[in-house]
Amino acid sequence: MKEIGIYIHIPYCKRKCSYCNFHFSTNISTKDQLIEALIKEIRIRATEAKDMQLTTLYFGGGTPSLFSIEELKKVIEEIQANYNFNGLLEFTIEVNPDDISEAYARSLKSIGINRVSVGLQSFIDQELVFMDRVHDAAQSFKAVNILQDVGFEKLTVDLIYGLPNSSEESWLFNLNELLKLNVSHFSAYLLSIEPKTKLFSDLAKNKVFLIDDDLAMRQMDCLLEFCNDNEYEAYEVSNFAKKGHRAIHNSNYWNRVPYIGFGPSAHSFAGNQRRWNIANNNVYIKALENNDVYWDFEILSEKNIFNEFIYLNLRKIEGISRTLIQALYPQYVIETLNDLDQLVLDGLMVVINDSYVLTAAGRKVSDRIASDLFKV
Ligand code: SF4
Repeated sequence: MKEIGIYIHIPYCKRKCSYCNFHFSTNISTKDQLIEALIKEIRIRATEAKDMQLTTLYFGGGTPSLFSIEELKKVIEEIQANYNFNGLLEFTIEVNPDDISEAYARSLKSIGINRVSVGLQSFIDQELVFMDRVHDAAQSFKAVNILQDVGFEKLTVDLIYGLPNSSEESWLFNLNELLKLNVSHFSAYLLSIEPKTKLFSDLAKNKVFLIDDDLAMRQMDCLLEFCNDNEYEAYEVSNFAKKGHRAIHNSNYWNRVPYIGFGPSAHSFAGNQRRWNIANNNVYIKALENNDVYWDFEILSEKNIFNEFIYLNLRKIEGISRTLIQALYPQYVIETLNDLDQLVLDGLMVVINDSYVLTAAGRKVSDRIASDLFKV
């Protein structure tokens, strides 16, 4: 039976973090109507997963831990009733540290969640204040300890590096604090400056300044060295796991396994089609109430599909398979293999068995490499 994943977007947050451009609202008053709309969407799209095995389920956001257990349960029951749920391998929820109490953690476990992603971002309170995060470092430790105590073995945390005013030392401090948590997986993202964020406007007004590229790259070196020393496999540019603890849901995204996204702004993927829901809570709710269209879609062109193949595989530790390029994209094979061979000569990639894999230097410029390889 073919595999499928489900992503559910919970579009609420307590506060807007200064760097974030995800879709969410701090107005939580529409929560009940949103749950009804979600339930309806889950029900009416069940045919898209007909005869498919649901292997991963992921509550992301926004802040899913703003939902009570009863609210989460309502959504889960609708999925159980409409999708092939029995072979589920991984069921993840994103939480913020300040939402985790022992009772809440136990209840998450009791409703079948087996993996928790904690949005820590930093262990330095000053950095958390700069990012306008709600929690502090002490709450992060407490949350992870509670989750471990109630028996969650699959835990992942998020960190951000490249922050204004950060240094090699501050980033190393963060990594060493991470080690104390003894988690099996973490994600570390280089800060990116997104339009319509407070950080974007503060930079434009010269209220804050980015660190220089060299320092950001040295922080990336520290990260890779840290992973080497502590047996975290750098299995994707921003994702790191102990043996046997890779994220299945995210790995499936990178391997182009189909998924359905429910909720405002959620994306779905199947074959050569990508579809996305409207990124507006009220419009989403009203559209579902009135049986209106709340989504848009695109059919991927041959070039789009090739570019996705390059982008997704380039970021993975397995790299870009020469055999797969030859088999799937014969029309681009000569040019692409020439480009990849040049990247090897430039020291940005190495050939391992059948695949082209980023070197440490290549990881630092992976986005540029991908766009150079894209077909336009
Ligand atoms: S980073 Fe997370 S918690 Fe902060 S505003 Fe964005 S979605 Fe919400």
